[in-house]
Amino acid sequence: MPEDCLFCKIIKGEIPAQKLYEDDQLLAFWDIAPQAPKHFLVIPKKHVSGPGDLAPGDDSIIGALVRKGAQLGAEQGITDCRLVMNNGAEAGQTVFHLHMHVLGGRALAWPPG
Ligand code: IMP
Repeated sequence: MPEDCLFCKIIKGEIPAQKLYEDDQLLAFWDIAPQAPKHFLVIPKKHVSGPGDLAPGDDSIIGALVRKGAQLGAEQGITDCRLVMNNGAEAGQTVFHLHMHVLGGRALAWPPG
């Protein structure tokens, strides 16, 4: 785990977060700057800097991430939700530890800006 990774620090408990779900592979917590009435992040505990850094052996992590994100969304009352990953700075990625946004609770426009 890189020393300076914000989300690794959340995983280690060095930075507080409002946790929604945790198991041995994944952590979900509410986004600190929500862009919708319900907005949380699901991250792998393994440090991967982003989608472009995934290895073939990581496929099961992504399956679990998407399945758990949709399930948690439904549990939070947002069966209709957007699951999105920003891949790279120009695409809007600001934290370089892979994460999937789960957003819902309002009508979401498409395409995003
Ligand atoms: P990105 O822009 O796709 O990389 O998303 C990073 C997300 O992390 C943003 O939506 C931020 O609001 C969120 N974020 C940054 N720091 C924290 C934190 O300490 N707790 C929870 N969410 C955070």
